[in-house]
Amino acid sequence: MLRLFNTLTRKKEIFRPLGDVVGIYTCGPSVYQYAHIGNFRTFIFEDILVRYLKFKGYKVKRVMNLTDIEDKAISTARKEGKTLRDLTEYYTKIFFEDMKTLNLLPADVFPKATEHVPEMIAIIRKLMENGYAYRGTDGSVYYDVSKFRYWGKLSHLKLKTGKKKIKRDEWGEESAIISDFALWKSYEKEDRDVFWETEFGKGRPGWHIECSAMCTKYLGTRFDMHIGGVDNIFPHHEAVIAQNFGAFSENPSRYWLHSRHLMVDGRKMSKSAGNFYILRDLLDRGYEPMAIKYLLLSVNYRRRLNFTLEGLVEAGKKLEKIQNAIERLKYSNGGDDAEKMARKTLKNFERALDDNLNTGKALKVMEELTDEISRINPDRESSEKTLGTYRVFDSILGLGLFKLS
Ligand SMILES: [Zn+2]
Repeated sequence: MLRLFNTLTRKKEIFRPLGDVVGIYTCGPSVYQYAHIGNFRTFIFEDILVRYLKFKGYKVKRVMNLTDIEDKAISTARKEGKTLRDLTEYYTKIFFEDMKTLNLLPADVFPKATEHVPEMIAIIRKLMENGYAYRGTDGSVYYDVSKFRYWGKLSHLKLKTGKKKIKRDEWGEESAIISDFALWKSYEKEDRDVFWETEFGKGRPGWHIECSAMCTKYLGTRFDMHIGGVDNIFPHHEAVIAQNFGAFSENPSRYWLHSRHLMVDGRKMSKSAGNFYILRDLLDRGYEPMAIKYLLLSVNYRRRLNFTLEGLVEAGKKLEKIQNAIERLKYSNGGDDAEKMARKTLKNFERALDDNLNTGKALKVMEELTDEISRINPDRESSEKTLGTYRVFDSILGLGLFKLS
């Protein structure tokens, strides 16, 4: 049985789907810049979760939004002298290429925020009607967090304290200030040609309302999983819950899953520290995409992972060792029986993933099988069966374990 850590309850819970199709929503990339390898840690985690659910026989509907409008996207477009659309279309294309490079399956739907403004307006209207939203003196529409009795439940903040310190390494924020947030931002000169004329005036949506509109449109008011990085917990996901509850009297997602930050060389990744990697930098330096993926999978998604170039070389070697073992199995014609070992490994592999998708443990299990196989000379029949086991591993991990030969 699959158990997943639910941020909302802070417990590992047995996964029980709501219906015939598991609905999954992931907060996708902000497409005004390259996604960095930390972002890809979340997307890889989510990809493997989907593959594993399918392996277990579930049908899955997976939605990943593209944030193609937000403050930074607008200011970047302005600085680069581009239209918002040209900028975001360019980085959307890059993101899809990167996904392919890392062998990530595409989502069923990739909705763009800019194409869902009417749906956002409809939710804001409901929030106004239900008394959760108000018009500010600046013309913008705000969510009144004092009206939502569960505000802070996901991030475990207490509303009364107004401001509370939260552990830096847990949420990535030193402290969080609780304040009302904008659902609709009234037009400012800096927005240039980025605006919509609506019943709430000329303006543009706030970031949080984008995800409420898109998750509800494609998955309904209640679905199975909402996924993101830990930096999404507060305020973004807290706000999504508040908006959906205010409009539809429901928390949209049964499970809230968050992957942890990536450290690079033991420090937080940042452009100024010079340890900020995008996928292309690493490929240009000659590293293999599947080695990068292997390293990103080597630690459970809820634990902090320290990414180093030495670790990347090591991951590449481990991957190659597995590929070589598979090559050997293709032609092995000895007298040893490998079947029992392979069967046991598959069971342990599943056990590892059932435990909150512990990919690090799953890789270890696969490495151990590889070590044992290299010590024996398997017969033809058990070699075929063992190859079948590796095919299962690869269908879930998407690591390109099989070479063309
Ligand atoms: Zn989101």
